[in-house]
Amino acid sequence: MDMRDIQMCDLKGQYGKIKTEIDFAIQQVIDSTAFIKGKEVAKFQDELANYLGVKHVIGCANGTDALQIALMALGLKPGDEVITPDFTFIATVEVVALLGMVPILVDVDPLNFTINTKQLEEVITPRTKAIIPVHLFGQCANMDEIKRIASRHNIYVVEDAAQALGTDYYSTSGATLKAGTIGDIGTTSFFPSKNLGCYGDGGALFTNNDNLAEEIRSIANHGMKVRYHHDRIGVNSRLDTIQAAILRVKLKYLNQYNKARIDAANHYDSMFKTCPHLMVPSRAKWSNHIFHQYTLRVVDANRDDLIKHLGSFGIPAMVYYPIPLHQQKAFEPYRSVNRTHPFTSSLELANSVVSLPMHTEMDESLLNFIGEKTLAFFK
Ligand SMILES: *Cc1c(COP(=O)(O)O)cnc(C)c1O
Repeated sequence: MDMRDIQMCDLKGQYGKIKTEIDFAIQQVIDSTAFIKGKEVAKFQDELANYLGVKHVIGCANGTDALQIALMALGLKPGDEVITPDFTFIATVEVVALLGMVPILVDVDPLNFTINTKQLEEVITPRTKAIIPVHLFGQCANMDEIKRIASRHNIYVVEDAAQALGTDYYSTSGATLKAGTIGDIGTTSFFPSKNLGCYGDGGALFTNNDNLAEEIRSIANHGMKVRYHHDRIGVNSRLDTIQAAILRVKLKYLNQYNKARIDAANHYDSMFKTCPHLMVPSRAKWSNHIFHQYTLRVVDANRDDLIKHLGSFGIPAMVYYPIPLHQQKAFEPYRSVNRTHPFTSSLELANSVVSLPMHTEMDESLLNFIGEKTLAFFK
């Protein structure tokens, strides 16, 4: 066991099991030489739309582009305020700033790590045009509450589902919806380590709105609907045919992959739940959790020393995310408009969270090894 090369995310082990199918899919694209907009792209978009129960899926080059294209498609303008959580990956606020809009940060819920809906309404002004909830680590934000607030103030909702592809949301209406299909537009990333990852960069947008879908397609393709007729300023952001072919193979296994992650998380939970120094990930009542990351909170003990201790056994552990967005240097220009918030939870999380290896190839002996070495630190 100790000799095993432990990864945060074991892409090699996963590839080994589907190598024949993947290699065949890639070779077919190369043989066809339809590298851009090949038929695999349209097929993948249809299959993913079917899986998610959403009307339109539009592929693009990565998850960051997907967020940018979403804000452009909604017709937002420089100076518009866009609300995002303080505790997330930088991409979510980066695109807001890039488009000349003003990112407004909101603290997160200390248990479920997603945007704190109680504080959301406090930062809404007449300039607020959109909210980007992030379904962090594989669990949904409280979408019913977010949609209720958004509709009361006439604000768009763009879901960042980069870490939650396949997560079920249990709406108060009784319906079960997939993450990313609940707001006006949903976005995702197919970065290799995401729950549905390709073998390079890739991303997609989801919407049930025909007009928005048309805008998104046009923006992602140089602002044109008819070739060489450019109706607006767009971008060049495409999902490669090879990546779409790989994703078509992996989509068939997505439920199985997510279940493997859930099983691994439950095993970790069973080892850690009685340890007074560890808070196992909570499960929101409105969502399942597909564990893009398995993230513990370390209580009354030194988190960084725990990481060093694990490292000495060849166990990687990561801090997602060590610095809340409001404290990032890049965020300095927006500090004055974000003055009023103490960001208590995001600061606390940045100092106490640790993510353990989590992927589709975890087995009991690996989980036990990691679990035992983790617990040994507190003895
Ligand atoms: C990965 C990720 C993105 C960006 O996706 P890329 O494909 O790397 O551009 C955006 N938001 C969140 C929450 C992510 O985890």
